[in-house]
Amino acid sequence: MEPLILGLDIGGTKIAGGLLTRAGDLVAREERPTEQSRGFDHSSGQMIRVIEALLQRAKEKDAEISGIGVCAPGPMDIEAGILFNPPNLEGWENLALRDLLEERFGIRVWMDNDANAAGLAEALWGAGKGFERVFYATVSTGIGTGIIWNRRILHGKNGMAGEGGHMTIQFEDADAVCKCGNTGCIESYASGTSVARRARKALATLDEKPPLLEQETGGAWNSLTMKHLAKAAERGDAFSLGVIEDAGTRLGVWLGSVVSMLDPDIIVIGGGVARVGETLFEPIRRELPRRTINPFASETGVVRAELDQDVGIYGAAALLLQRSAQEI
Ligand SMILES: [Zn+2]
Repeated sequence: MEPLILGLDIGGTKIAGGLLTRAGDLVAREERPTEQSRGFDHSSGQMIRVIEALLQRAKEKDAEISGIGVCAPGPMDIEAGILFNPPNLEGWENLALRDLLEERFGIRVWMDNDANAAGLAEALWGAGKGFERVFYATVSTGIGTGIIWNRRILHGKNGMAGEGGHMTIQFEDADAVCKCGNTGCIESYASGTSVARRARKALATLDEKPPLLEQETGGAWNSLTMKHLAKAAERGDAFSLGVIEDAGTRLGVWLGSVVSMLDPDIIVIGGGVARVGETLFEPIRRELPRRTINPFASETGVVRAELDQDVGIYGAAALLLQRSAQEI
């Protein structure tokens, strides 16, 4: 069989990996819970076991491994292969992950953060396929972004470019404190967590709660999530529709600035919040052209990501196929 790429997605909940062809076909998949609360030796062991299982699967297919791609959350030094402070990965701080894996398996390792990697995968194999300039955003617990220009991730001087979720869209709102320390980042309005938090706050001021949303939550207002809002909106609940409309409008304002700055061919949006679908995308597409000087903005596609569930695995593998890494 042709050589395969091993893609590994390290997260606080699970460590998932897969074997992919250069064309982006996932031919094997393994997954283990991270169980980070059991300490670094255990959680890093889970990672090793996922890789070992995949190497075994490759052996059964009589396929060589051309390299290992790894994506993880949070900032990292991709040149040195060091994770700085990945959220929800206890004991993984300042870990020389690339050296650890290269020494253990004798296979070359590429690393990047998960939003960059996911954006690259969408640009190579997903909704951005065939486009040279892709802006990718994943809207879930937070908002991560990746700028993929000519099949390469734009990293900037310190590897910190493409942190678009922390662009300020409103700077005087004391209620919108972001986990990065800034106020008014788009993430603090339109991530799934932020949308739910803002909705809970608005609901607290209502004497009469929306009945359809009450059915979805069972009246447990404090545990209201984006999923509840999406389901109630689907059933026509006006409050939930309004909340999603507001999030979409704000994303449109933000993406207007992105288009002014980057003039991309296409904007690809993934993550759990994107699954809400057209109710969210309509206000984005309506608002975006109003917020940019770019006269071609209304022609810039804003589409849903395609790789969805396993995008981390695809993204990690895609790291080996960036224009700069093509010597392999
Ligand atoms: Zn922020």
